[in-house]
Amino acid sequence: MSQDASFVIALDGPAAAGKSSVGLGVARALGLSYFDTGLLYRALTWLALERRVALNDSNGLTALIGELRIQVDSVGRVCRDGVDLTEALHQPNVNEAVSAVSAHAAVREAMRPAQRALIHAPGLVMAGRDIGTVIVPDAPLKIWLNASAEERARRRSAQTGEPYPEVLAAMQLRDRLDASRAVAPMARAQDAIALDTDGLPLEAVIDAIVELARRRGA
Ligand code: C5P
Repeated sequence: MSQDASFVIALDGPAAAGKSSVGLGVARALGLSYFDTGLLYRALTWLALERRVALNDSNGLTALIGELRIQVDSVGRVCRDGVDLTEALHQPNVNEAVSAVSAHAAVREAMRPAQRALIHAPGLVMAGRDIGTVIVPDAPLKIWLNASAEERARRRSAQTGEPYPEVLAAMQLRDRLDASRAVAPMARAQDAIALDTDGLPLEAVIDAIVELARRRGA
């Protein structure tokens, strides 16, 4: 158990590893909620692009966090001022800019309390890049979800209709930036269980995590 007697499953991994589908499935099976922390960085990036705040302006970006005012529903749809931003947050302009925004130490620090505040009984599946290493280091179950870059790009390209070569190149660049930043880089926690999902059906991945969680007391 971690904070507040809640069971937290830290679900980290690179872009398009299937964290949302897997995380939602696991959460449903265990009666937990699900939260994708990438949406916070995507929403901030979207707002910065709207307001023309430079991606290297750490103070300007951090100040924008107070104006995020987003609502995220149980399946990860994001609304702001009554407008559904979900599609906008997954457009290429946000994909290309988000790693620069999320690399700022001050941005990450300001985002931390909001993420920890989501932890309450009975618990949640929290997806991201630094959940097991930084946000919830005492999570009773940490999963590092991965698949080959080619498989991930194939899946994402099939979902969005964007051409495969462009998806692959953009995804590899984003992974490189996320893994090499100085603060809270994307990394597998030492005590995380690695699941490689190449060729595995979604249901099998969900079942494996649910089984692990039950064994650990979920
Ligand atoms: O998971 P998703 O691809 O939506 O995340 C978008 C971006 O948000 C990542 O590429 C990364 O730059 C940032 N992110 C992060 N830490 C997290 C979750 C996402 O830095 N915990």
